[in-house]
Amino acid sequence: SGTIEIRDLHKVYRTRKSSFEALRDIQLTIGSNEFLTILGPSGCGKSTLLRMVAGLDEPSSGMLALDGEEIVGPGAERGMVFQGYTLFPWLTVRENIEYGLKLQGVPTLARRAISNYWIKIIRLESFDKSYPKQLSGGMKQRVAIARALANRPKVLLMDEPFGALDAQTKLEMQEMLLDVWQKEKTTVLFITHDIDEAIFLSQRIVVMGAGPGRILKQFEVNLPAE
Ligand code: ADP
Ligand code: ADP
Repeated sequence: SGTIEIRDLHKVYRTRKSSFEALRDIQLTIGSNEFLTILGPSGCGKSTLLRMVAGLDEPSSGMLALDGEEIVGPGAERGMVFQGYTLFPWLTVRENIEYGLKLQGVPTLARRAISNYWIKIIRLESFDKSYPKQLSGGMKQRVAIARALANRPKVLLMDEPFGALDAQTKLEMQEMLLDVWQKEKTTVLFITHDIDEAIFLSQRIVVMGAGPGRILKQFEVNLPAE
């Protein structure tokens, strides 16, 4: 599960005075448990595409589906980690991770077991009672990943999640992400304009270009991730 189908997708941003064609004729299938990266320059429509998969925006025409069901609006089966998609500042690390589980009515003890599991994976054992403002950027993104995955989504959507981090932290985060992806077996749709990052992380890279946003080429990355 976690298969995404995108067919004949067009997106035009309209204002009263003008219209802007952000995406044209996007055709893409993302396989179950695949790690797929969309690579392209700033402004080519990557975030627009991801927001539609997230259900945060609507296509002008065409269709998006997850496991055969049309995507309309956000849903718990699609976890999100965005660069600016911040943690809840009034909740601790543990409470942030448990947030979605609480909404779903998962009982306290089960929530605790799941947050313990994730706090260990992201190596923040001594920060479980800390608030986001007490954490570094890398730590915050680790919590954001744990918060997204604790709900066991079928798909993890990531928009330049490590774009604001220094090189060393970025590499640690990329390694952690590959590690949890291999453990959790979730589909990952990742967006970046950094080709090194795309090659390091992905099984498949889809290259987009602007004017209007469209897919230029795709290739498999054949080196197995250790
Ligand atoms: P990327 O993520 O590749 O940088 P975006 O999807 O953010 O690209 O944006 C693609 C194009 O659509 C850009 O030219 C941007 O200015 C335009 N755009 C994005 N969102 C809107 C919006 N809400 N209204 C009008 N234009 C937008
Ligand atoms: P176990 O102790 O059975 O080996 P784990 O240590 O892997 O289990 O995880 C602890 C508990 O958290 C288990 O009940 C497990 O099913 C649950 N769990 C682990 N990851 C998730 C997740 N992403 N979503 C929900 N529950 C999870």
